[in-house]
Amino acid sequence: MNFQQLVLASHNAGKLKELQAMLGQSVQLRSIGEFSQVEPEETGLSFVENAILKARNAARISGLPALADDSGLAVDFLGGAPGIYSARYADGKGDAANNAKLLEALKDVPPEQRGAQFVCVLALVRHADDPLPILCEGLWHGSILFEASGEHGFGYDPLFWVPERKCSSADLAPVDKNQLSHRARAMALLRQRLGLA
Ligand code: IMP
Repeated sequence: MNFQQLVLASHNAGKLKELQAMLGQSVQLRSIGEFSQVEPEETGLSFVENAILKARNAARISGLPALADDSGLAVDFLGGAPGIYSARYADGKGDAANNAKLLEALKDVPPEQRGAQFVCVLALVRHADDPLPILCEGLWHGSILFEASGEHGFGYDPLFWVPERKCSSADLAPVDKNQLSHRARAMALLRQRLGLA
Protein backbone atom coordinates (compact mmCIF):
# COMPACT_ATOMS: atom_id res chain seq x y z
CA MET A 1 0.00 0.00 0.00
CA ASN A 2 1.32 3.36 -0.96
CA PHE A 3 0.04 6.46 0.79
CA GLN A 4 1.78 9.77 0.28
CA GLN A 5 -0.53 11.63 2.61
CA LEU A 6 -2.81 10.64 5.43
CA VAL A 7 -5.14 12.89 7.36
CA LEU A 8 -4.73 12.36 11.09
CA ALA A 9 -8.05 12.50 12.93
CA SER A 10 -6.68 14.63 15.75
CA HIS A 11 -6.48 18.34 16.50
CA ASN A 12 -3.55 17.77 18.84
CA ALA A 13 -0.34 19.16 17.29
CA GLY A 14 1.81 17.23 19.77
CA LYS A 15 0.22 13.94 18.80
CA LEU A 16 0.70 14.67 15.09
CA LYS A 17 4.38 15.39 15.67
CA GLU A 18 4.88 12.25 17.76
CA LEU A 19 3.06 9.96 15.30
CA GLN A 20 4.82 11.54 12.31
CA ALA A 21 8.20 10.85 13.93
CA MET A 22 7.20 7.21 14.56
CA LEU A 23 5.78 6.75 11.04
CA GLY A 24 8.79 8.21 9.25
CA GLN A 25 8.93 10.84 6.56
CA SER A 26 7.76 8.85 3.52
CA VAL A 27 4.10 9.42 4.47
CA GLN A 28 3.01 12.93 5.35
CA LEU A 29 0.46 13.29 8.14
CA ARG A 30 -1.90 16.25 7.82
CA SER A 31 -4.11 17.51 10.60
CA ILE A 32 -7.89 17.21 10.33
CA GLY A 33 -7.82 20.77 11.68
CA GLU A 34 -6.95 21.91 8.13
CA PHE A 35 -10.42 20.76 7.07
CA SER A 36 -12.74 21.09 10.06
CA GLN A 37 -12.77 22.07 13.73
CA VAL A 38 -15.72 19.82 14.56
CA GLU A 39 -14.93 16.61 16.42
CA PRO A 40 -17.19 13.56 16.05
CA GLU A 41 -18.90 12.08 19.09
CA GLU A 42 -17.07 8.96 20.22
CA THR A 43 -20.07 6.67 20.56
CA GLY A 44 -18.28 3.29 20.35
CA LEU A 45 -17.84 0.91 23.27
CA SER A 46 -14.31 -0.11 22.32
CA PHE A 47 -11.05 1.47 21.23
CA VAL A 48 -11.45 -0.19 17.83
CA GLU A 49 -14.93 1.20 17.24
CA ASN A 50 -13.92 4.72 18.22
CA ALA A 51 -10.73 4.66 16.14
CA ILE A 52 -12.69 3.52 13.06
CA LEU A 53 -15.42 6.09 13.67
CA LYS A 54 -12.84 8.92 13.90
CA ALA A 55 -10.93 7.71 10.83
CA ARG A 56 -14.11 7.48 8.72
CA ASN A 57 -15.16 10.96 9.82
CA ALA A 58 -11.76 12.42 8.89
CA ALA A 59 -11.82 10.69 5.49
CA ARG A 60 -15.34 11.96 4.83
CA ILE A 61 -14.44 15.54 5.71
CA SER A 62 -11.10 15.66 3.89
CA GLY A 63 -11.67 13.35 0.93
CA LEU A 64 -8.29 11.77 1.76
CA PRO A 65 -7.23 8.47 3.33
CA ALA A 66 -7.28 8.91 7.08
CA LEU A 67 -5.59 7.59 10.19
CA ALA A 68 -7.03 7.76 13.70
CA ASP A 69 -5.80 6.58 17.06
CA ASP A 70 -7.74 5.80 20.17
CA SER A 71 -5.91 5.14 23.38
CA GLY A 72 -6.33 4.78 27.11
CA LEU A 73 -5.59 2.77 30.21
CA ALA A 74 -7.26 -0.61 30.90
CA VAL A 75 -6.97 -1.84 34.50
CA ASP A 76 -7.53 -5.59 35.00
CA PHE A 77 -9.14 -5.33 38.45
CA LEU A 78 -11.62 -2.77 37.10
CA GLY A 79 -12.73 -4.93 34.17
CA GLY A 80 -10.75 -2.78 31.74
CA ALA A 81 -11.89 0.61 33.10
CA PRO A 82 -11.29 3.48 32.63
CA GLY A 83 -10.69 2.20 29.06
CA ILE A 84 -12.24 4.35 26.37
CA TYR A 85 -13.30 6.79 29.10
CA SER A 86 -9.70 7.35 30.31
CA ALA A 87 -9.59 11.06 29.46
CA ARG A 88 -12.85 11.81 31.29
CA TYR A 89 -12.71 9.18 34.08
CA ALA A 90 -13.24 11.88 36.75
CA ASP A 91 -15.94 13.68 34.73
CA GLY A 92 -13.59 15.97 32.83
CA LYS A 93 -11.79 17.33 35.89
CA GLY A 94 -8.40 16.55 34.39
CA ASP A 95 -5.37 14.33 34.87
CA ALA A 96 -4.86 14.91 38.61
CA ALA A 97 -8.49 14.06 39.37
CA ASN A 98 -8.35 11.00 37.09
CA ASN A 99 -5.28 9.73 38.91
CA ALA A 100 -6.82 10.38 42.33
CA LYS A 101 -9.96 8.48 41.33
CA LEU A 102 -7.89 5.54 40.10
CA LEU A 103 -5.85 5.38 43.32
CA GLU A 104 -9.06 5.45 45.34
CA ALA A 105 -10.63 2.67 43.24
CA LEU A 106 -7.56 0.47 43.87
CA LYS A 107 -6.79 1.49 47.42
CA ASP A 108 -7.28 -1.96 48.98
CA VAL A 109 -6.06 -3.95 45.99
CA PRO A 110 -2.77 -5.82 46.54
CA PRO A 111 0.20 -5.45 44.18
CA GLU A 112 -0.36 -8.76 42.37
CA GLN A 113 -3.88 -7.68 41.34
CA ARG A 114 -2.91 -4.25 40.04
CA GLY A 115 -2.08 -5.28 36.46
CA ALA A 116 -2.96 -2.81 33.70
CA GLN A 117 -2.16 -1.96 30.12
CA PHE A 118 -1.98 1.15 28.09
CA VAL A 119 -3.82 0.51 24.83
CA CYS A 120 -3.51 2.19 21.46
CA VAL A 121 -5.55 1.25 18.41
CA LEU A 122 -4.71 2.80 15.07
CA ALA A 123 -7.30 2.65 12.29
CA LEU A 124 -6.51 3.56 8.70
CA VAL A 125 -9.27 3.88 6.12
CA ARG A 126 -8.59 4.39 2.43
CA HIS A 127 -11.90 6.25 2.11
CA ALA A 128 -14.89 7.03 4.31
CA ASP A 129 -16.80 3.81 3.51
CA ASP A 130 -13.78 1.50 3.41
CA PRO A 131 -15.11 -1.98 4.35
CA LEU A 132 -11.66 -3.18 5.41
CA PRO A 133 -9.92 -0.68 7.69
CA ILE A 134 -6.32 -1.46 8.59
CA LEU A 135 -6.26 -1.99 12.38
CA CYS A 136 -3.13 -2.09 14.52
CA GLU A 137 -3.22 -2.60 18.29
CA GLY A 138 -0.40 -1.76 20.67
CA LEU A 139 -0.49 -2.92 24.29
CA TRP A 140 1.98 -1.82 26.97
CA HIS A 141 1.73 -4.07 30.03
CA GLY A 142 2.47 -2.81 33.52
CA SER A 143 0.74 -2.22 36.84
CA ILE A 144 -0.70 0.60 38.89
CA LEU A 145 1.46 2.08 41.65
CA PHE A 146 0.20 3.09 45.11
CA GLU A 147 1.41 6.65 44.63
CA ALA A 148 2.53 8.92 41.80
CA SER A 149 6.14 9.00 40.64
CA GLY A 150 7.90 11.03 37.92
CA GLU A 151 7.61 14.35 36.16
CA HIS A 152 7.44 13.47 32.46
CA GLY A 153 4.55 12.47 30.24
CA PHE A 154 0.87 13.12 30.86
CA GLY A 155 -2.33 11.39 31.92
CA TYR A 156 -1.77 8.23 33.95
CA ASP A 157 2.01 8.09 33.38
CA PRO A 158 2.90 8.84 37.04
CA LEU A 159 0.86 5.81 38.21
CA PHE A 160 1.98 3.33 35.54
CA TRP A 161 4.78 0.99 36.62
CA VAL A 162 6.94 -0.18 33.71
CA PRO A 163 8.36 -3.59 34.76
CA GLU A 164 11.05 -3.72 32.06
CA ARG A 165 12.53 -0.42 33.34
CA LYS A 166 11.58 -0.68 37.04
CA CYS A 167 10.17 2.84 37.13
CA SER A 168 6.97 4.67 36.28
CA SER A 169 6.31 5.80 32.72
CA ALA A 170 6.54 9.39 33.99
CA ASP A 171 10.08 8.61 35.22
CA LEU A 172 11.10 7.69 31.66
CA ALA A 173 12.63 10.29 29.38
CA PRO A 174 10.21 10.96 26.50
CA VAL A 175 12.58 9.39 23.97
CA ASP A 176 12.63 6.17 26.01
CA LYS A 177 8.86 6.14 26.48
CA ASN A 178 8.46 6.57 22.73
CA GLN A 179 10.41 3.35 22.14
CA LEU A 180 8.27 1.26 24.50
CA SER A 181 4.81 2.76 24.54
CA HIS A 182 1.51 1.41 23.29
CA ARG A 183 1.56 4.06 20.54
CA ALA A 184 5.08 3.02 19.46
CA ARG A 185 3.99 -0.63 19.32
CA ALA A 186 0.86 0.09 17.28
CA MET A 187 2.84 2.35 14.95
CA ALA A 188 5.53 -0.30 14.42
CA LEU A 189 2.77 -2.68 13.27
CA LEU A 190 1.32 -0.03 10.97
CA ARG A 191 4.74 0.57 9.43
CA GLN A 192 4.96 -3.17 8.72
CA ARG A 193 1.47 -3.22 7.17
CA LEU A 194 2.39 -0.27 4.95
CA GLY A 195 5.69 -1.87 3.95
CA LEU A 196 7.69 0.89 5.61
CA ALA A 197 9.46 -1.22 8.26
P1 IMP B 1 -5.98 10.00 23.64
O1 IMP B 1 -6.76 8.96 22.92
O2 IMP B 1 -4.55 10.04 23.21
O3 IMP B 1 -6.63 11.32 23.70
O4 IMP B 1 -5.86 9.51 25.14
C1 IMP B 1 -6.98 9.23 25.93
C2 IMP B 1 -6.59 9.25 27.38
O5 IMP B 1 -5.91 8.05 27.72
C3 IMP B 1 -5.61 10.37 27.77
O6 IMP B 1 -6.30 11.55 28.07
C4 IMP B 1 -4.95 9.77 28.99
O7 IMP B 1 -5.77 9.92 30.12
C5 IMP B 1 -4.87 8.29 28.64
N1 IMP B 1 -3.60 7.99 27.96
C6 IMP B 1 -3.43 7.59 26.67
N2 IMP B 1 -2.13 7.42 26.39
C7 IMP B 1 -1.46 7.72 27.53
C8 IMP B 1 -0.07 7.74 27.85
O8 IMP B 1 0.82 7.48 27.03
N3 IMP B 1 0.23 8.10 29.11
C9 IMP B 1 -0.72 8.41 30.03
N4 IMP B 1 -2.02 8.43 29.79
C10 IMP B 1 -2.40 8.06 28.53
